[in-house]
Amino acid sequence: MALIELRRAENVAGDFFVDTTCIDCDLCRQIAPSVFTDTGDQSAVYHQPSSHEEEFAALKALVTCPTASIGTVEKHSTKQAVAAFPELIDASVYFCGFASESSFGASSYLITRAGGNVLIDSPRFARPLASRIEQLGGARWIFLTHRDDVADHEKWADHFNAERILHRDDITRSTEGVELVLKGRDAIALADDLVAIPTPGHTRGHAVLLYKNEYLFSGDHVWWSDAKKSLVASRRVNWYSWTEQIRSMERLLDYRFSWVLPGHGRRACANPERMREYLSQCVARMGGEVKMSVGV
Ligand code: SF4
Repeated sequence: MALIELRRAENVAGDFFVDTTCIDCDLCRQIAPSVFTDTGDQSAVYHQPSSHEEEFAALKALVTCPTASIGTVEKHSTKQAVAAFPELIDASVYFCGFASESSFGASSYLITRAGGNVLIDSPRFARPLASRIEQLGGARWIFLTHRDDVADHEKWADHFNAERILHRDDITRSTEGVELVLKGRDAIALADDLVAIPTPGHTRGHAVLLYKNEYLFSGDHVWWSDAKKSLVASRRVNWYSWTEQIRSMERLLDYRFSWVLPGHGRRACANPERMREYLSQCVARMGGEVKMSVGV
């Protein structure tokens, strides 16, 4: 729980606050944008909730915060906010909330489908979330986009008797027991509606998951930027190879999708043609950064 004595000076006076343990994951700003804002390298409350909707959103952010950095002066029940996750995004795709500090607050998702549900990356393990996912049919697979966002994968796999999927090049000691290992760079059809696409770059074994040719679960490969109004990737968080990441991004141009659902960064939704334009812009910017770095 956040500590009042660590309350950041940047918060406006009132009930809700962010303390100094915030790791700037951005989730509270996505979940309750009318309450939380970016103040450099941490979040703060800039507007106290003034309606039931705003308070509910702020409590969902509190429940999701990976570092328990959001607190309240007054006592509030979080029961409803806890029960709100997984939260429906679109059709059969949900946001899990309950972010984990070990994955730096990465978003995780759930797909419900007749052939077996899929958890994409790992939320923090929490019994209420597990019960809600159970009500939605549990999880047959846990698709791990890359080595950084695996969090409580083992607990989730045990709980649901689920098979974990991860690329061989991103297996570490903590994931050496994964059940399905992706190899190489060719896309792999996991089912009629699910394609795993290796996208080396951010990490060597990064992979994205395409569902129904509509939803791209993009891990830390690509995400939406409100500032650039386009899809982006960042060299600052490129741990393996920027050149490889550009190649992987180019390969994604062969696919159609209308949603980008990332681990970090904002989500995007547009018609497939527009999305392809955003992706092309992203590739062009990435190539431009290479040229700048070699002085072209
Ligand atoms: S969700 Fe928590 S860690 Fe993430 S930006 Fe908000 S206060 Fe900081």
